[in-house]
This record gives sequence, structure tokens and C-alpha cells, in this order.
Amino acid sequence: MIPYPVEYVRATSVTHALELLASDSDAKLLAGGHSLIPLMKLRLASTPLLIDIGRLPELHGIEFHPDHVAIGAATTHAELGDHPGLAELLPLIRLAAGVIADPTVRNRGTIGGSLVNADPSADWPAIMLALDARMELIGAGGTREVAADAFFVGFMSSAAQQDEILARIRIPLPGPDRVAYRKFRHPASGYAVAAAAVALQYAGDTCTGGRIGMTGLAATAFRASAAEAMLGRGFTGSAEEIGRLVETAFVDVTPLEDNFASGDYRIQLGKVMLKRALEDAVSREYGIES
Ligand SMILES: Cc1cc2nc3c(=O)[nH]c(=O)nc-3n(C[C@H](O)[C@H](O)[C@H](O)COP(=O)(O)OP(=O)(O)OC[C@H]3O[C@@H](n4cnc5c(N)ncnc54)[C@H](O)[C@@H]3O)c2cc1C
Repeated sequence: MIPYPVEYVRATSVTHALELLASDSDAKLLAGGHSLIPLMKLRLASTPLLIDIGRLPELHGIEFHPDHVAIGAATTHAELGDHPGLAELLPLIRLAAGVIADPTVRNRGTIGGSLVNADPSADWPAIMLALDARMELIGAGGTREVAADAFFVGFMSSAAQQDEILARIRIPLPGPDRVAYRKFRHPASGYAVAAAAVALQYAGDTCTGGRIGMTGLAATAFRASAAEAMLGRGFTGSAEEIGRLVETAFVDVTPLEDNFASGDYRIQLGKVMLKRALEDAVSREYGIES
């Protein structure tokens, strides 16, 4: 389908983009366009003014700091997956980037667009929850940081306001000691029907805790907090422990239901993905597919 008529402006800087945003309360930012443009073509989204921020150098690239990695919001999925230094410090990033859709989407789509879009089946939200990331938002009133835990507020809804730009994603270092990502892909789109990102901390051979990010199961990505609580209690990774943990993980979750997967099926898939991701992480195998 053909979208409504729209004015397109390529912003020359973040400041310029903020001015344009302030000029029209219905204006929208455009990054890779791989979520927004399909919605506009289906007339499920519309705007009189598209502000292209996808090529702003200020929003690109990966910087390494002593205590964190800063990722520019307009960095593409492919750039993240191909970065050797990042893969060494935070292997979860490479695991997720490699299983997003297909090369076309990975070469155009950006991590910032994905996070702000907050699709309940997107990969990055689960990864950011597992890695305890913080989102740096710039608005007319200044800069604020929002933890991943508070960023995904509802179905296709994030903490970023209409007049704010997600500039950077900050991920603390050192990263987790053992990680894994397991994803059951929708066969057409590649989006997660259910996926589990596991990040475990170890002291020697002893697991001291961890974070679990889930996507695909519910209206938003979420942390499996009840299951995480069991990781800090001398978790050894035995089959019995993993079985118990998986059974408690989603008791409070209201699952998504659609033509492709019923709620019960999604929860069952979520349990299987989480079980396999925990097994992978404990044994240092980096699983990515179901
Ligand atoms: C066929 C297909 C398959 C896909 N499969 C997957 C998949 O398997 N896994 C997955 O995770 N995703 C998948 N996607 C989504 C893809 O990763 C998108 O690229 C991504 O979700 C959105 O990023 P974008 O840069 O394209 O954002 P855009 O489409 O440009 O923007 C999306 C939304 O975010 C806003 N926005 C963008 N950047 C910023 C910013 N810096 N600050 C504030 N707001 C911003 C826009 O205004 C818009 O509302 C798929 C998409 C397609 C078309």
C-alpha cells in the first residue's frame, strides 16, 4: 500500500532533530525504517513529518569505557554482530544480532529503533534486560538515563517520549561470565515466538547470581525475576535445579495469543528456550537456535 503524504527531512545533527521534533507534536523519527515504514505503508502509523536520524554520526558507533560500553542508537544490527571487540566483551550481543531476521533487515535496522519500538517479539529488549543496560535519552529539557528494567512499559511502548531521542545504550562492564541466547523464530519474519537471554555471574566455579531476559511471550519483554532469585542460592546448574527454575519462571506471566501461537504454547516454548539457554550458559555453550 501507499502511505499518506509525508514531508521527509534528513536531520543534520541531534540538535536539529530535536528542533524538528519540537516543531510538530506528530513528527516521527526515522532510523533504519524497518519497523516504521512497513507500518506507514499499511496505514497503521502516520505522520506529517519524518525526521531521518539514521545517518547522524553522533548516534553511530561503539565506544569502550573502563566500566561500560556505549553503543550509538543508530548502530545497525549487522555492525553490532560484526564487531570483534564487542563480541569478546559481550558475546550476547553477537548472538542476538546474528539471529535477527535476515541480512537485509540486519544491514538497515538499528538497535535504537528496535528498543524504542518495543515490539514484544524483538530480540534486543531481552538482551538489554539480561545485560542491565541503561538508555540515554536526549530531549529539549536535557539528558536522562532509564534502566532497561523501566524502559519497556507496554505493548509497542517504551519510556522514550515523542520529543526525545534515544542517543546511546550503555552496558556495564565487566559483562556476565557465562551467557546464552535461545530463540524459537517465527518461520516467516524471524521474530521471536519465544526467546531467553541468560547472563550468569560466577566466582570461580560458583554461580553467584544472574539475569534472565525473555521476549516473545508477553506484551513486553520482561525479566524472569522468580527464576533469577534461584540463581543466587548456590545454583549448580543440575538438571533438577533447572527443571524447578523453569517451572517457576512464568507463573505470573499473561501470555500473548495470536493466530500463530496460543498462550499455553508460548509459555511451553518459553520454558524450553529458558531450559536450553540455562544449560548452554552453565556448560559455556553459546546456543542460539531452538
Ligand atoms: C521482515 C522483518 C523481519 C524482522 N525480524 C526481526 C527479528 O527477527 N528480530 C527483531 O528484533 N526485529 C526484527 N525486525 C525489526 C527490525 O529489527 C527493525 O529494524 C527494528 O525493530 C526497528 O529499527 P529501525 O532502525 O528500522 O527503526 P525505525 O523503523 O526507523 O523506527 C522504529 C520506531 O522507533 C523510533 N525511533 C527510531 N530510532 C529512534 C531513536 N534513536 N530515538 C527515538 N526513537 C527512535 C521511530 O520513530 C519509530 O517509532 C524485523 C523487521 C522486518 C521488516
